[in-house]
Amino acid sequence: MENSKIALLNLNEAELTDYILSLGMKKFYGKQIYNWLHSKLVRNIHDMTNISLKDREALDNNSYIPLLNIIKHQISKIDGTEKFLFKLEDGNTIETVLLKHKDRNTVCVSTQVGCPIKCKFCATGASGYERNLTVHEILNQIYTIERRLRNREQNVNNIVFMGMGEPFLNIDNLIKVIKIISDEKGLNISRRKITVSTSGIITGIERLMEEKLQVELAISLHAVFNEKRDELMPINKKYPLEDLFTVLQEYQKRTNRRITFEYILIKDFNVSQGDAEMLADFVHEFDHALNLIPYNPVVENDFERPSEKKIEKFYNYLKNDRKVNVIIRGEKGTDIDGACGQLRQRTTK
Ligand code: SAH
Ligand code: SF4
Repeated sequence: MENSKIALLNLNEAELTDYILSLGMKKFYGKQIYNWLHSKLVRNIHDMTNISLKDREALDNNSYIPLLNIIKHQISKIDGTEKFLFKLEDGNTIETVLLKHKDRNTVCVSTQVGCPIKCKFCATGASGYERNLTVHEILNQIYTIERRLRNREQNVNNIVFMGMGEPFLNIDNLIKVIKIISDEKGLNISRRKITVSTSGIITGIERLMEEKLQVELAISLHAVFNEKRDELMPINKKYPLEDLFTVLQEYQKRTNRRITFEYILIKDFNVSQGDAEMLADFVHEFDHALNLIPYNPVVENDFERPSEKKIEKFYNYLKNDRKVNVIIRGEKGTDIDGACGQLRQRTTK
């Protein structure tokens, strides 16, 4: 059975080297095998042609290269956004999105099967929570897409951890994946082109600060009053706005990195003049970017998207009156439900 074997993509370079030493192989093979796995992206141990046949057989007997099965692939007719439905070894399924821009390709990666945070507006949250993804399941979302792009002489250039799940609830695997994909012996994706989006898990923000990973941090803010944020995101009861504010101040002092705030615009809920004023006050305490996201009505609830006029008014106040560094985030792949917050594949065992 494949499953009783070691999944090679779960190992970082040091672990891989220890592992091949334990199989009686030469130490310098560690680097080479790591390169086959994480840079050349081979799918088969026997494709590692500079490893002796005997050693490849030993590897093959004890370990395997995990792969993801694509069970559905949709391409947006509007903007070319691609959505992949992958099946995991245990039968669970996850979604990953490839966003195409003129000069770059961004992969929106999932970190969990479903999400336990259960924000009221989010389709993933509504789909329930199963488990954390393993390192190889996270990596393979990127690797599967990178292989396909290489066939078109393109590459994955940016990573956003904005797919299904709360990345900071799977932080050990998240950090391991970030180190592997940004390693020059792997895909060598600059840390500045990797964004982690969180609902505001303070322990995760602290860990990111300690690890000095220098990736981009995005905070799903969505409300600047605790009563409203409590209603949208139950996690606010555990990590309320004032605690989030304090840790983000500390984060910025220690890392000197800009923080991106995400704010979903919901009709008659968080788009009043008072909300706009408080939001401007909040973000001006930081070196910031603010992304306004008009609500996508994807879950059964009472929320609606504000009118275009209301969205413009909210934006204009922030931009012109308060000089906030703000954009309205363009939607991608609306015809295939490819946008953030729309991913909701139920588990099909
Ligand atoms: N769990 C992490 C990352 C995944 S969600 C987080 O919450 O930050 C990615 C982004 O999509 C978040 O900013 C989230 O708030 C937003 N989102 C979720 N549901 C949405 C919806 N219905 N409409 C618009 N944006 C949504
Ligand atoms: Fe989870 Fe993010 Fe969706 Fe909230 S918005 S339920 S944290 S995936």
